[in-house]
Amino acid sequence: MAAKAIKVYAPGTVANMVCGFDVLGFALHEPADEMWMQLSDTPGIQIHPDPQYNLPTEPEKNVAGAALIALLEAAPAGTGFELKITKHIKPGSGVGSSAASAAGAVVGANALLGNIFSKEQLVQFAMFGEKVASGVKHADNIAPGIYGGVTLIRSIHPLDIIPLPSPDLHVTVVHPQIEVRTADARAILKKQLLLKDAIKQWGNVAGLVAGLTLKDYDLIGRSLEDYLIEPVRSILIPGFDEIKQRCKEKGALGGGISGSGPSIFMLSKTAETAHTVAAEMSAVYERLGVDYHTYVTTINQLGIRTEAIDSF
Ligand code: ADP
Repeated sequence: MAAKAIKVYAPGTVANMVCGFDVLGFALHEPADEMWMQLSDTPGIQIHPDPQYNLPTEPEKNVAGAALIALLEAAPAGTGFELKITKHIKPGSGVGSSAASAAGAVVGANALLGNIFSKEQLVQFAMFGEKVASGVKHADNIAPGIYGGVTLIRSIHPLDIIPLPSPDLHVTVVHPQIEVRTADARAILKKQLLLKDAIKQWGNVAGLVAGLTLKDYDLIGRSLEDYLIEPVRSILIPGFDEIKQRCKEKGALGGGISGSGPSIFMLSKTAETAHTVAAEMSAVYERLGVDYHTYVTTINQLGIRTEAIDSF
């Protein structure tokens, strides 16, 4: 029997995985949002405010609400949800804050309804939340949240998601406390590419997918280079080039901009290297006088998790 109330752990995610702009993403363990949901006798959606951030509580303006509105159209008539969100993933940080709420809400709702929807349907619903946050439907944060691990979004229309295997990978994320507006990060992208750069890029995408599948750390490291997006976007992130260089000198396999920034992530083979990398990131931002937050974590193979509770 489906639970009456549910607690949802909705982790952050890294989209635009270096060479995999818009198509490769993965789930983290930290940071993660907490959500509490229950079925309501009143049809529709009621969102309790999170006192920490001034996020909208009108369902159509909150990404969780927008995703649930899409789900309700396919749910039994008269269904209603009540939810409370405690954000630990700062909105606009580049580690999938909006996706955690949108994907977390639909996974929680599905658990309350007795898991009547497939993961692919949940991604479709949650993308309506991403549309509210950024104006476009994209799945490279949503899919790793819902499937866990690393996911390839081969296509959005029609939706084609391929969960990829991966070896143990340690992740270091630094979030400089500056604002990079997603609209700005999008506006500066070049509309035309050189064929020679595109060839290097798809060589790396194929190399990265092969490296993850074969658990070949050297191949993963060689493939973590972005010739198209990073050279343009990294200028919005203070200290980016120095951080990347220092982290690789200390043994990181590679990394880049998380989502559309300003967070930067690095992948490492061991926890020890991941901690050394965090110290390098901190040293750069200490010197530049930029406030920052680091996370040392691993790829989260399970993604969003739910737990039955008595009430909330
Ligand atoms: P991120 O890449 O961290 O998801 P975005 O800039 O894409 O950041 O999304 C954050 C935007 O979504 C903000 O404008 C925020 O006000 C809006 N938003 C609406 N509801 C939520 C929510 N529940 N969680 C996070 N952001 C939300």
